[in-house]
Amino acid sequence: METSDVQADLKHVLYSREQIQQRIAELAADIDKDYEGRELLIVGVLKGAVMVMADLARALHSHVKMDWMAVSSYGSGTQSSGVVRILKDLETDLMGKHVLIVEDIIDSGLTLSWLKTNLLSRGPATVEICTLLRKPAAAKVDLDVKYVGFDIPNEFVVGYGLDFAEKYRNLDFVGTLAPHVYE
Ligand code: 5GP
Ligand code: MG
Repeated sequence: METSDVQADLKHVLYSREQIQQRIAELAADIDKDYEGRELLIVGVLKGAVMVMADLARALHSHVKMDWMAVSSYGSGTQSSGVVRILKDLETDLMGKHVLIVEDIIDSGLTLSWLKTNLLSRGPATVEICTLLRKPAAAKVDLDVKYVGFDIPNEFVVGYGLDFAEKYRNLDFVGTLAPHVYE
């Protein structure tokens, strides 16, 4: 879906399809360079990271392996608690592997902080993080994010994988919703 399909639901467009694709191409170039000569496994966090994974993987010029995890954060409402449950685990043995976690958005950073620690306990050579979007709160936790697409204001965003009540994931851009949608 594009902006014209959801015009009435939108407050504003944060990043257009073109801006996202341009930034992902830049991230891919950095990743190609940084992992040159090493075998890389990219791990997408379901469901939000599906779009970033698909576009990032295709923008790379090197071979990568791809795997997926699904996690859910315990806790009430929209606040992340940092206590995470694995809904779907990796199929890949991480021993000795170079792992890059690919995420749609980092807010508090608690989910990714837990996930990175969890993957590090499996004996990989390295674990790094790539996220398309990052909110300011993430800066307050001790989480080293090697690749960041865009640092964004503390607003609830949808599109390009990100949902509101499971809707809007299939927008080809990232935007904010008009108040009437969630009121
Ligand atoms: P945290 O970094 O706080 O542990 O949690 C990150 C998760 O919260 C993301 O994976 C995403 O599912 C959800 N999240 C955080 N901010 C937003 C947002 O602005 N929009 C949407 N749709 N989900 C968000
Ligand atoms: Mg997510």
